[in-house]
Order: sequence, then structure tokens, then C-alpha cells
Amino acid sequence: MGKVRVYDHFINGKWVKAKEDTAILRHHPANGELIAKYPNGTAQEMEQAIEAAKEAFHGEWPEWSPKERSRLLLEISRRIRNNLDRLAEIESEEVGKPIDLARGDVMGAADHFEYAAALTRDLVGETHLLDQNLSAIVVREPVGVVGLITPWNFPIGILCQKLPYALATGNTVVVKPSEFTSSTTFELAAIAYEAGLPPGVMNVVSGYGNVVGNALVSSDDVDKVSFTGSTVTGRKILEAAAGNIKKVSLELGGKSPSIVFPEADLERTAEGVLHAICFMQGECCVAGSRLLVSDDIYDEFVERLVEKAEQLVIGDPSDPETKIGPMIHEKHMEKVLHYIQIGIDEGAKLVTGGTRHVDKPYDAGYFVKPTIFTDVDNSMTIARDEIFGPVLSVIRFKSEEEAIRIANDTPYGLAASIWTTELDRAFRVAKKVRAGTIWINGHLNAYPELPFGGYKASGLDREMGRHGIESFTEVKTIQFHHAEKR
Ligand code: NDP
Repeated sequence: MGKVRVYDHFINGKWVKAKEDTAILRHHPANGELIAKYPNGTAQEMEQAIEAAKEAFHGEWPEWSPKERSRLLLEISRRIRNNLDRLAEIESEEVGKPIDLARGDVMGAADHFEYAAALTRDLVGETHLLDQNLSAIVVREPVGVVGLITPWNFPIGILCQKLPYALATGNTVVVKPSEFTSSTTFELAAIAYEAGLPPGVMNVVSGYGNVVGNALVSSDDVDKVSFTGSTVTGRKILEAAAGNIKKVSLELGGKSPSIVFPEADLERTAEGVLHAICFMQGECCVAGSRLLVSDDIYDEFVERLVEKAEQLVIGDPSDPETKIGPMIHEKHMEKVLHYIQIGIDEGAKLVTGGTRHVDKPYDAGYFVKPTIFTDVDNSMTIARDEIFGPVLSVIRFKSEEEAIRIANDTPYGLAASIWTTELDRAFRVAKKVRAGTIWINGHLNAYPELPFGGYKASGLDREMGRHGIESFTEVKTIQFHHAEKR
């Protein structure tokens, strides 16, 4: 067994001793070994962190010039890159994420800091010359104390879709990472502090969502919450945030369609749509979990897809050959297997996978084989609920109009991909599908420059890009009434 990582809370620039006997134990999802212990935080510990963030917000930090903040963010980015191997190994073993993907997430985190560093120097307002005697400026200011609540699928990646932008605009933050994957959040707090972030500007309290998460969201001293996770928890957060009318950004679930038209390059498309569902073993908010295929090519396309799915290497996430790692934990694996059973019971045709992968030495891990259902009707449970596993529902369509109707027939609106070589069709369909991100002949790529977020029950607000940084600011109007010329 490797060394077990043990953390305390990170509050006001210091490690604050937490009770070890109540620590949350994290076991490796691929082999069951104990790998980390995180503090099981209390509401009082959360209040202490909020108090530190509040004090820091009334200190020097919001007065730093954009140039100074930008330099610090670049230094944090440099240190993240210097720690690439270690952070990626932690991320891979805690999430069960293939190591190449974990490395990509860490590099992506560094990239967000670089982009936010650039944006902070170019966050401009407006000037209005309204009258002879009246002019006004509109400026952006930090919101204040911001709570960041993150999920387990991309711990450092999702944290860094939020944190650098919150810091770039002069806010102070309290982070509540997932109880399953807290290590890289603590590591990043230490890195940021060593790079020169003043005490209290970034605080981390780990623990359960209904205790420390709820204390963070309900606090009247917190001005904004940015949350990524399930739609169910998103609704609870909206309610809890109502007390002091805090600003809320939500990045929630999805049931994203990949729409394949008959003229598409079928080989490239088969690889692309399989990647869209199997990337991160399907534990991804933008997973292409509904595959809409034109009737003209349905059978041929499904055949290619099944052949490719059966070749995907399932196994040890630290092995660079691995494409499919374990599910995050046993309960989640059971939930995914339960949905597979519902698919069978409701009459969908299981054409590959559908079971746990228990080949030795992976029998102690929570692996689910890539699973494909055909003959799926969009009203079936497996086409409606977010399963968050490698389970693909293949749905047939006969016309472009029908494809658009099915694509939009979902409570979600996070993303969609369109696979076609016809430019006119691509643009036409992209405009009609109600989702925050549309990919043409691709799925999954994200860049700091591009805003990300959902329509409908997939969320509120946007992260990343100019929209993302602006969402961590308040807008203030200052009017100048000039004296009459004497
Ligand atoms: P949750 O939405 O419950 O968890 C996300 C984060 O919110 C975690 O840090 C969690 O804490 C915290 N949280 C939970 N309850 C509260 C609360 N009342 N107040 C404040 N914070 C809270 O997701 P789960 O981990 O339970 O996953 C369930 C499903 O959610 C998945 O199967 C998937 O469908 C979806 N999901 C979507 C994600 C996305 O990227 N959009 C990411 C993860 C999950 P705790 O550590 O206690 O869990």
C-alpha cells in the first residue's frame, strides 16, 4: 500500500487541526486500498473559514492592482505545472481517472490561471457622456466572499473553472470539495499560498455536503455560490441561497445528444460519439449519452460502434493504455447497474456490455463495461435520466426535424454534438438545439476562452471566458454631476 495522504482544513493561510477519529476515508476505486483521509468538517469549522474570507475581503487583497493579481495568478500556474506529475497521480487514483486524462486536467487547471491572469488586466467598464453636466462610469467590483462547491469527477479541473476567475476579480473564497476527492483542492490551496496569496483569500473546508456545504450556502456572510454537481443538489442550493439573496451560478447535469446524419464520415463519427460517452467512463456532465442516428445508416453505424466499444481497454487508471477506469464508488456503480436493468426491463435492446467488469485483478474495483442499448425510445428512463456511467442509448430518427425534436425533448440543455459534412445543415441544427454548447463533428473539448454552462435544468449562468469572469463581479454605476459653467 502507498502512503496515505492526511489533510487538515486550510483556513486563513494555516492548516487547522481537524479530528482524526471522524476523518472521511477515501479508498482507491480500482482496488479498495486506503489512499486518503480528509477532515469531516463541522458547521463551526465552516463558519471559521467564512470569517477568515470575510476578514481577508476587508483587507489588502481587493486593493491589489490587476497587474499584481495577474502576476500572482501566473506564478500559481507555473507552480501547478511544476507539480504536474504529483497532482495528476493523486487525481487519477482518487477519481479512478485514466492517467493521461488526469494530466490533461492538471494542465488545463494551469491554463485557466494563465487566461484569468490575462483577463484581469483587461476587465473594462463603460463610460457615458449623458448630458452637458452629467457623465457616468460603470465599473466592475468583486462580489465579496464566494463559496465554491465542487464535485468528484474533475476535482482540480472544475475547481479551476471557478477559482482563478474569482481571484482575478478580487474576491475571497471558501472551497468545499467533494467528500470523495478532496486532496488536490488542499494541494492547490497550499500551492497558491506558497506562491504569495494572502492568508484568508482561499480557504478549504472538507466534509459532507449537507453539513459544511449547507453551512456555506446558507451563510449570510457569503455573497455568491458557484456550484457544479447534480440538478437535485442545485435546486437545494437555490433554496438555501435565498436568505441573503446571494448570487448563484449552477453547472448541473445533462443528457446530451450526439446527432449523426447520414452524410457524416462514419468512421470518424463512430470514434467521436464513443469517446463522448466513454470519456471519464461516462461520469461527465456533457457526456453524449443519447445517440440519435439517422435511419439510413442506423444498422451499419451501430455495428461499427459495438466493435469499437468492445476494444476499449478497461483497467488500472495509472496504466497509460487504460481508457475505462472504475466508477467513483460502489454506490454509484450500483446506481449505474440499476439503470442498465431498467433499460432491459423497459424493452431496450442491450447489444454490448451491461455488466460489471470483474476480471482479475480488477475484481475489487467498481468497473462497468461500456454498454450500448439500441431500439431506445426517447421516453424510456435510460433516455431521460442522467446515468453518469458508460451507458449509451441509441435512438433512431427519420428526418432532420425529428432529430431536433428528440434532441430538445429533455429537461436538460447542457450540450450537443452534430455529426455531418453539410455546413448548412450543421448551422441550421446548431441554432435549433437548445443547449449551452454545440460541437460540430466533435464532442467534449473545452477552452478557458469559451463560456460554458447550460440551458433549462442544466444550470444558471456561465463559467469561463469573459462571461465567466464577469460573473464574479458586481456592476457599479457612478454618476458625475458637473457644476454648471460659470
Ligand atoms: P452532488 O450534487 O450531491 O454533489 C456535488 C457537491 O455538492 C459535493 O461537493 C457535495 O458534497 C455537495 N453537496 C451535496 N449536498 C449539498 C447541499 N445540501 N448543500 C451544499 N452542497 C452540497 O452530486 P453527487 O456526488 O451526489 O452525484 C450524484 C449525481 O450528480 C451523479 O450521479 C451525477 O448524475 C450528478 N453529478 C453531476 C456533476 C456535474 O459535473 N454536473 C458532477 C457530479 C455529479 P458531498 O461531498 O457530501 O457529496
